[in-house]
Amino acid sequence: MNKSIEDISFDESNDCYVKPIDVSELINNRNFMQDTRLNLIAEIKRLDERIKNTEKNIYKHCTHNWVYDPSSYMDRTKYFCKDCKLWRNDCWYN
Ligand SMILES: [Zn+2]
Repeated sequence: MNKSIEDISFDESNDCYVKPIDVSELINNRNFMQDTRLNLIAEIKRLDERIKNTEKNIYKHCTHNWVYDPSSYMDRTKYFCKDCKLWRNDCWYN
C-alpha cells in the first residue's frame, strides 16, 4: 500500500517530555510531503494545459450563444457563451 499524506500524524505540541521526538522520522515526513506537493503541482500544470487545449477546441467548434454580461470586469470582453461558458475573445483560445 502506498503512503499518503493522511498517514502522517501531526503532533504540533512539540512537547518532548510527553514522548521522544524522532527527528529522522520528522525529516522523512517533511521530505515525503515536499515530494507529494511537487507531484501535485506538476499534475495541476498538466491539467491546466489539457484544460487550455480543450477550451481551444470548444471555442473552435461550439456554435456559441453569446450573452452580454454588463457586470464583467473586463473592458474588452463582455460577452460569454451561455453553452460553453467561454468569453468572446479570439486571442484567449488560439
Ligand atoms: Zn460556446
